Amino acid sequence: MLKKIVGLIGIILLLVGCNSVNEDIKPISQSSFTLGTVVSVSIYGTEDEEIFDELFDRMKVIEEKMSKTIPTSEVSRINLLAETGDISNQIKIDSDVFTVIDKALEYGRKSNGKFDVTLAPIVELWGIGTEHENIPNHEAIEKLLFTVGLDKIKINAENNISLAQNTKIDLGGIAKGYAADEVADILIESGIEKAIINLGGNVKVIGEKSKGVPFKIGIQDPLSERNNTLGVVEVSDKTVVTSGDYERYFEQNGKRYHHIFDPSTGYPYETNVASVTVISDESIVADALSTILYLMDVKEGLVFVNTLEGVDCIYVTKDREVYLSSGSMREQFELTSEDYKLKE
Ligand code: ADP
Ligand code: MG
Repeated sequence: MLKKIVGLIGIILLLVGCNSVNEDIKPISQSSFTLGTVVSVSIYGTEDEEIFDELFDRMKVIEEKMSKTIPTSEVSRINLLAETGDISNQIKIDSDVFTVIDKALEYGRKSNGKFDVTLAPIVELWGIGTEHENIPNHEAIEKLLFTVGLDKIKINAENNISLAQNTKIDLGGIAKGYAADEVADILIESGIEKAIINLGGNVKVIGEKSKGVPFKIGIQDPLSERNNTLGVVEVSDKTVVTSGDYERYFEQNGKRYHHIFDPSTGYPYETNVASVTVISDESIVADALSTILYLMDVKEGLVFVNTLEGVDCIYVTKDREVYLSSGSMREQFELTSEDYKLKE
């Protein structure tokens, strides 16, 4: 619980810090706890606070559809049907949920199965970040792995889904990205030209700080206290999403167990990567990709990112090395911590 409270304060401070860096005219801002995290939105160029209702209502709707822990959610309905075996024949599902699953499967395939929304039973078994977090016994993991795999889930263009019996889905690695995009779309449709949306570190910016000057987004130092940044990345009209092992984890006998799982083993992925940040246009894609890149070593990840158009990344390793995906990233990223070394 303490970890959670410290986390909340951290994110709020980060946003305040963010604003003071990016401030020309004062934005209007609001925060709330949605989608399992602190969500903050700052909007420039308007004083009409009513717009926040629309944004937070939309996020609430997304949460109420996609949360695995809300019993009435669409995801819970799908999972319950799979448990009772009624879903080997396809059923029609909500279009928001369909859109997210569709994208998740696309990046599941692109990552050769590293991104896998059917990991839900494994995520539940470990319970990282919940009151029942524990190291499960190996047999229990092996047994549940039989329900995991992209071949256990099928969708078709009419919003239909079918799942193998006992397979369950968990959209925790991608839903926040979708929500960020949806919020950005509402703002843009309302004529807003400048805003910062922050869903617990999943950031999307609309516009630029001022004419010709990009926003500066701080990158958390994954090996230090919250709010200590190791550098800044300059972006306009982009999303910046980070995954790492420092947000949700527990430690036992000196070993850290975090919340990003290797679908081939059912265990938290053991890696020298401390965090990876993705910079791209769509937050839904960046969210999936940050999880995927965390599951690749630096070399493999940098090669993979370069096969994708309009995507950049920043890898940070536990031995305090920083790797950038491309030449343009070198101009956009500035390392500010002396504890780290920027690698060629
Ligand atoms: P965060 O939620 O902290 O922003 P991520 O976007 O990396 O972090 O998502 C982690 C969440 O994604 C986990 O809590 C779990 O719900 C889910 N997850 C874990 N491993 C995988 C995976 N290999 N593929 C898809 N989803 C995953
Ligand atoms: Mg993710």
